[in-house]
Amino acid sequence: MTIVVLKLPDVKQKTEERPKKCPYCEGTTFQRWGKVKKKVRDVHVRSVTVYRYRCGHCQRSFRHYPAGSSSADQTKRLEIFSVLLWTLGLSYRAAELILSGLKVSLSFMTIWRNAQEENVKRKKQKQWQPVRALGLDGAYVQGWGEKQPVLVAVDLGTGDPLAVGYVNEYDPQAVQRWLKPLVQRHGVSVIVTDDLCSDRGVADKLQLGHQVCQFHVRRWVGRTLHDLASDLSKEWLWVLEEARTLLEVLHPEGGKRLYALWKQLPGRQRSNSKTLSPLERLRDLLLRLAQTWQRYCTFQSEPQVPWTNNTTERAIERMKMRARTVRGYKSWQGMETGLLLAAAPFL
Ligand SMILES: [Zn+2]
Repeated sequence: MTIVVLKLPDVKQKTEERPKKCPYCEGTTFQRWGKVKKKVRDVHVRSVTVYRYRCGHCQRSFRHYPAGSSSADQTKRLEIFSVLLWTLGLSYRAAELILSGLKVSLSFMTIWRNAQEENVKRKKQKQWQPVRALGLDGAYVQGWGEKQPVLVAVDLGTGDPLAVGYVNEYDPQAVQRWLKPLVQRHGVSVIVTDDLCSDRGVADKLQLGHQVCQFHVRRWVGRTLHDLASDLSKEWLWVLEEARTLLEVLHPEGGKRLYALWKQLPGRQRSNSKTLSPLERLRDLLLRLAQTWQRYCTFQSEPQVPWTNNTTERAIERMKMRARTVRGYKSWQGMETGLLLAAAPFL
């Protein structure tokens, strides 16, 4: 059984705590100046008691709200709860309906606005947050008529999506342009990505450490080794075995060994035929692994850097799951809000 804990803000019906400072002049001495009962929209509470205070310094009076409410007519708890309903898969109109069943009237437009505001608030909170390792991965999401390319950046320390960009992951220049300010603002030092060649260029140009997701590497290398095992002449099977072991152990010097193996294989001149011989395929594999080897082992010397990009993939999975029931975002703004909220750690 999965236990889900909702972290909703508490709503107090009244507070005896006095204000700490005047909102106008920052004065710190007050006189109570009456109280009012304020109706609020909330799932439990119907009204809260609000005290008025008069500032001893500037003589102006102001309302001091108990925790969870403000001058708005909905409580902070209802605000978050309504966004959560959307995040969990309801449409804005269905969320309105559910709330009306709880005897709370909140229009779907207000819920939509709550979602936009919650996203802006979260973006602001994360604006200067230091991020050591950033996971990057591309996805395609239905929007304005067709699938749109998005690039997702996840803080691998918290699992929280940091940003999504309207960027194609196969366009290295666009990726770099989008990534650069993010890297500078958050002080990112390592990126974790799939095994795309373009990612290597981007990491080098931005002078970032780079970890290539071992989950992906093991999958495609495993498949290639498996195919080669049946095609290759028996005298070279030991090379396959050694490559397999090196990948399992991920020894920091493994790249050098793979390079040495590559040198041992005969036939370094390419034949003119279009299809590669099994031996040529093996040579290509060894060279590619040797050249990327250090990017497989970054996690060994960099604490807090995971060896896979699974955290990013999980965030993207949540984004896609929510996008399927939206059946197409209408604008980039709507898509950005939807994607970020769908993967935000509410629960
Ligand atoms: Zn004052």
